[in-house]
Amino acid sequence: MGKVRTRFAPSPTGWLHLGNARTAIFSYLFARHHGGDFILRIEDTDKERSKKEYEESLIEDLAWLGIEWDEFYRQSERFDLYSEYAQKLLKSGHAYPCFCTPEEIEKEREEARKKGVPYRYSGRCRHLSPDEVEKLKKEGKPFAIRFKVPQNRTVVFEDLVKGHIAINTDDFGDFVIVRSDGSPTYNFVVVVDDALMGITHVIRGEDHIPNTPKQILVYEALGFEVPKFAHLPVILGEDRSKLSKRHGAVSVRAYREEGYMPEALFNYLCLLGWSPPEEGREIFSKEELIKLFELKDVNDSPAVFNKEKLRWMNSVYIREIIPLDTLLERAIPFLERAGYDVSDKEYVKKVLEHTRDSFDTLSEMTERLRPFFVDEFEIEPELWAFLDDEKAIEVLELFLKKIDEKKPSTPEEVKKLAKEIQKTLRVKPPKIWKPLRIALTGETEGVGIDILIALLPEEKIRKRIKRVLEKLV
Ligand code: GLU
Repeated sequence: MGKVRTRFAPSPTGWLHLGNARTAIFSYLFARHHGGDFILRIEDTDKERSKKEYEESLIEDLAWLGIEWDEFYRQSERFDLYSEYAQKLLKSGHAYPCFCTPEEIEKEREEARKKGVPYRYSGRCRHLSPDEVEKLKKEGKPFAIRFKVPQNRTVVFEDLVKGHIAINTDDFGDFVIVRSDGSPTYNFVVVVDDALMGITHVIRGEDHIPNTPKQILVYEALGFEVPKFAHLPVILGEDRSKLSKRHGAVSVRAYREEGYMPEALFNYLCLLGWSPPEEGREIFSKEELIKLFELKDVNDSPAVFNKEKLRWMNSVYIREIIPLDTLLERAIPFLERAGYDVSDKEYVKKVLEHTRDSFDTLSEMTERLRPFFVDEFEIEPELWAFLDDEKAIEVLELFLKKIDEKKPSTPEEVKKLAKEIQKTLRVKPPKIWKPLRIALTGETEGVGIDILIALLPEEKIRKRIKRVLEKLV
């Protein structure tokens, strides 16, 4: 096998969907596994639906996922090339000008609808004589260019995931390769590009299987070598319908904004349809995936997206895998957006070090870490009622006194201090922890209160407890 070259060819008509991201990842892993090249090609021939903003976000999201490309192309910059190849096909008789108007085509479609058969172009303009063509051109009639599809031929290919596929050309009619406005269509440019870019393996979603025979015919007509194809099964939602917006967040961007780790999303998406050789194992670094990934291990049936599983995997990355400094760097913008003061990076780092096992995403982190950053909060009336108790007040007063003597600076020291209070006042542990938690956070649950007391600066602890005591006594 020569050098492997694969590509990811998104159309910039929306945010990067999880399914497309998985296609990009598989294509990338396959290239890297074989020491080959991975190419990013923006397919923006549809001028109306393509948007710069989507192109930018696709590029950003791919880079965020850790996918690096060796070459970059944009189809809108290659129109001259496509027209050159369209001319070649006209000259060799593999394509012909079609003067049918949109109304005429619509009429054909309508007839097919009435008969309940799939639409196929009638091939009317296929039979125009050269003189007729010249005449119509002279009259200035707009024309498209259609590919002349051989009749009743079975096009076969061995898909590297789906196996043997055979489709008869009678299932589709002569298809347009250049529209009457001069813009070339997907099934044509994809072949010109994949051939000229030396793509050896076309890896893409299975929704493109019906396009593949058309493309094979174009390869043959242009005398290009046909690449290998691998069509990936769709991703389904929990209800086993195709994963879509109905299932909640489906764009890479949404997960990024929710505070998912790119490494976790990359890892999780790989498990959607690919079975690692070592059964039972689920956590893999990118390097390991590059080493292990083979197309033969991609399942040919659909994979089901499970958000809870992704969330769990994200928590594993946050808790155990991401280096603390990286976690800090990623957490800061989330904390800043919540309005927290993060100027003391050492403090934030310490907080993360002790609390990283208590949230699954960075947006959840923002909520959970509030007591570490926010001094002003309301205490609900029923919680006041709990604090307004002789023992609770005694606990808070003694705690304050102890803090004045020496502020515990580790969770262990905090626990020791709680034991001392417990002994002195003869109270059970919940009677100590609950009033402290309410006074320091305004809540009855959340991150470990021992961690909060150990890390929160002394003056803040004092301020929060005093504020409560002032109201109680
Ligand atoms: N632009 C096409 C898409 O986004 C690319 C299909 C292909 O990979 O050939 O579906």
